Amino acid sequence: MRYLSTRGQSPSLGFSDAVATGLAPDGGLYLPEVLPQFTAADLARFAPLSYPELCFEFLSRFATDIPADTLRALIAKSYTTFSHAEIAPVVKLDARTYVLELFHGPTLAFKDFALQLLGNLYGNQCQVRGQTINVLGATSGDTGSAAIHGLLGKPGVAIFIAYPDGRTSPLQERQMACTGASNVHALAIDGTFDDAQAALKELFADQEFRTRHRLSAVNSINLARILAQCVYYLWAYLRLPAGVRNEIEWVVPTGNFGNVLAGWLLRKMGVPLRGFRVATNHNDILYRLFTTGDYRVGTVTPSLAPSMDIQVSSNFERFLYYSVGQDAAKVREIMGTFKTTGAYTFANFNADGFSASRCNDAEIPGLIRQVYQDFRYIADPHTACGFKSLAKDRPSIVLATASPAKFPETIVSAIGIEPTAPSLEALKAKPLVKQKLPADAAAIRAYLDRHAV
Ligand SMILES: *Cc1c(COP(=O)(O)O)cnc(C)c1O
Repeated sequence: MRYLSTRGQSPSLGFSDAVATGLAPDGGLYLPEVLPQFTAADLARFAPLSYPELCFEFLSRFATDIPADTLRALIAKSYTTFSHAEIAPVVKLDARTYVLELFHGPTLAFKDFALQLLGNLYGNQCQVRGQTINVLGATSGDTGSAAIHGLLGKPGVAIFIAYPDGRTSPLQERQMACTGASNVHALAIDGTFDDAQAALKELFADQEFRTRHRLSAVNSINLARILAQCVYYLWAYLRLPAGVRNEIEWVVPTGNFGNVLAGWLLRKMGVPLRGFRVATNHNDILYRLFTTGDYRVGTVTPSLAPSMDIQVSSNFERFLYYSVGQDAAKVREIMGTFKTTGAYTFANFNADGFSASRCNDAEIPGLIRQVYQDFRYIADPHTACGFKSLAKDRPSIVLATASPAKFPETIVSAIGIEPTAPSLEALKAKPLVKQKLPADAAAIRAYLDRHAV
């Protein structure tokens, strides 16, 4: 299988190269040249498989340049770090309401599904090519900790994550700075997230530095992330009762459009998922797109669901590519207009199975309370956004993207109960090791020169 850029001006690549490259050189995102199709017979054959076995069946259609035994082993290793036997349990709240729990990985958020696997793919690549990799990224929270836990202890890989000192939640900082792994560097930057981001941008722009350290970004648009996420939709589909699974609406708390895009792509591969609801917080670019056809950047303001505080959804470009009939020139034109004017208005916009809801901060605690009263279920602030506007005419499955234990303050204020998770409790006992650095490219550069592998 080969991979093409949505902008059509980069050569096609094999799976491993597309994963290693992340963003295509023409600024586009990689997609498979053709989407494999899964038939009813395939689905019947998949039904009894364990999560890692199912993941292998799915990914082996894409990762055709990795020997089957190697791929199987990398996948098996990726999901041993999950604390639930089902990996992604489907929880029934009542006859028409289900939750797909995606927070049983090491950092208690759904990003672990992709980043545990991506870490092992990187590790394998280092081994096969006999090269080291230095991963550098800036984070305001979840992505950084999930990337760290994907790469910790991997031979040949070092990871440097810059975060604004004192501005992430204390638990998020502990997930980054208490790993005890010598290849993990938590860089506590004296400044804001934007300051850290700007310093890193300067380093990535320096070709000599970039090549010398074989620098790689923690990338939210990596193809492997999307494909790894398709698997839990397939898994959940196979676990839902036969009379429910073709009718149910998939409700997905959304920021960068990565999670929900995976479900939609799986539908394009022949799995009959009926429709998706994009559930945003008050940073609502996707809500506005899917309700009006107007894709228009707004200003990001902090919310109680911080991992969805995004106003430009990078993965939208993959949806766009298919919605313009795989016409890369049209994608370039639309993304060009969006980049220069901050907006693009679609005439005759086709939402193609997506609906949308939006939830502001004043509503989130009330939704957490309502879900707890109705079902005795504790939803984290992101998941709570999904419980707004549940469909009346069909069942729903809400994707629970984070454990409530990651957001104790919001949960306590809503229902007076403090959720806990053993892995977070264990973190509190471990020493915090962070490198305090000024928000300055030269200081980060000097640190990397000393510690890169
Ligand atoms: C990253 C994240 C999201 C948003 O996911 P996207 O793929 O960006 O749409 C939602 N909830 C949580 C808890 C997250 O960490």
